[in-house]
Amino acid sequence: MSVLDHYPDYEVVIGVEVHVQLTTNTKIFCSCSNEVIKEPNTNICQICAGHPGILPVLNKKVVDYAIAAGLATNCTINQLSYFARKHYFYPDLPKGYQITQSDEPICKNGYITIQTEDGHAKKIRITRIHMEEDAGKNIHSEHSNESFVDLNRAGTPLLETVSEPDISSAYEAREYLKTLRSIVQYLDICTGNMEDGAFRADTNISVRKKGDPKLGTKCELKNINSFKFIGDSIEYEIERQIELLESGQKVRQETRLWDTKNKKTIVMRSKEEAADYRYFADPDLPLIELTPEYIASIKATLPELPHETIERLCTQYGLSNYEANILVGDRELTRYFETAYSHHPSKQIINWILRDVLGFLKEANIALASFSVTPEKLARIIQLMESGKINNHAAKQVFETVIQTNGDPEKIVKEQGLEQVGSVDELEKIVLEILAANPQVVADYRSGKDRLMGFFVGQAMKQTAGKGNPQILQELFKKHLHN
Ligand SMILES: [Zn+2]
Repeated sequence: MSVLDHYPDYEVVIGVEVHVQLTTNTKIFCSCSNEVIKEPNTNICQICAGHPGILPVLNKKVVDYAIAAGLATNCTINQLSYFARKHYFYPDLPKGYQITQSDEPICKNGYITIQTEDGHAKKIRITRIHMEEDAGKNIHSEHSNESFVDLNRAGTPLLETVSEPDISSAYEAREYLKTLRSIVQYLDICTGNMEDGAFRADTNISVRKKGDPKLGTKCELKNINSFKFIGDSIEYEIERQIELLESGQKVRQETRLWDTKNKKTIVMRSKEEAADYRYFADPDLPLIELTPEYIASIKATLPELPHETIERLCTQYGLSNYEANILVGDRELTRYFETAYSHHPSKQIINWILRDVLGFLKEANIALASFSVTPEKLARIIQLMESGKINNHAAKQVFETVIQTNGDPEKIVKEQGLEQVGSVDELEKIVLEILAANPQVVADYRSGKDRLMGFFVGQAMKQTAGKGNPQILQELFKKHLHN
């Protein structure tokens, strides 16, 4: 469902810019630590604080990470690129310019493939990926009319990834961001954490009548820090822009923010005039020259990428594309699945992960890493069930007990007396008793009321205190009712 369903004459055009914060040990142009340090202005030197006369020195790891990101997103790696100065004034930018890349970014003309809402593969083109430094932070006091500048973040390495306006719904925008985030996580170059700003997305949104060759005026939604808010804010913005046009007004080019409380976008600043950043090549930094051999050496170190993992999970474990996609959305979840499967290769593993494991994690809002049902324990619970020792109902009970007590599945089965009333002979005796005690129901069943099978199995489950195997019981009832 999208707000666009209410406006069949319109379409939306979305382009996305993402700032990917790199997990290098040090900052991009100095040897200050790249760790997030809370105490303001304690992780700075003359270079990241922008003193006059300083000389930045490029961190080679940033280049390696940029090449890896470019290769993983099907980009051409520019063998010759350079840094430029982007001039603007802001208190958190003491040099008066940001070192970034302009005309010749390190990566260009790539794409990533996403799944659309109806399950098709769609290529979203990537215009460019470039390296740049982050600025500091302005902190506005809540108690006094003062503002402060913290430069700890200044000089943090970023990759800015710019997409072409190929995205045509809020759903696709979310899928694009999820795919890109899992790529940088798989590459191990970014934590992907959106809440603390390590993966920040700006979306450019415009609407137009279908068939109109001209793009509408776009608005930029800045720094929205969750997939849900990104989806909600795009939906809101589509409707706001269409309503403006429908009432004969114009969309103004603006940067807008998402107000999570009131669930609407609000103006941050108007962008009537394009800013002139007076770009020029940074004379303090050499050209970045890459040989084909060097690019190939980075390529050789690339890990398995999300789309490759999806393919492998489908062929190796017989998962559906849908199942594999969910696992790959979270690298840890893929590991969890593969570990569980290695302990007990069963089709039930994926079902339990998608239904019970993810269901619980979402409800309790906890991370997989602190989940007490380890992949080994999940595999053992499923094994207990498939070997006939416990039934499905008891397996769920063991699962929940492990969550609460962190206990051992086999011990829990013993302690709670969950073993199935096992032998077919034993169960058959119960079945015959129930049939003998309910002649009218038996007659009704035989006259065609098939759904009474539920009654019989229910009675037997009651007799076995829930420990009978419902499949075996059903077969036994059929055997005796059908002759
Ligand atoms: Zn520094």
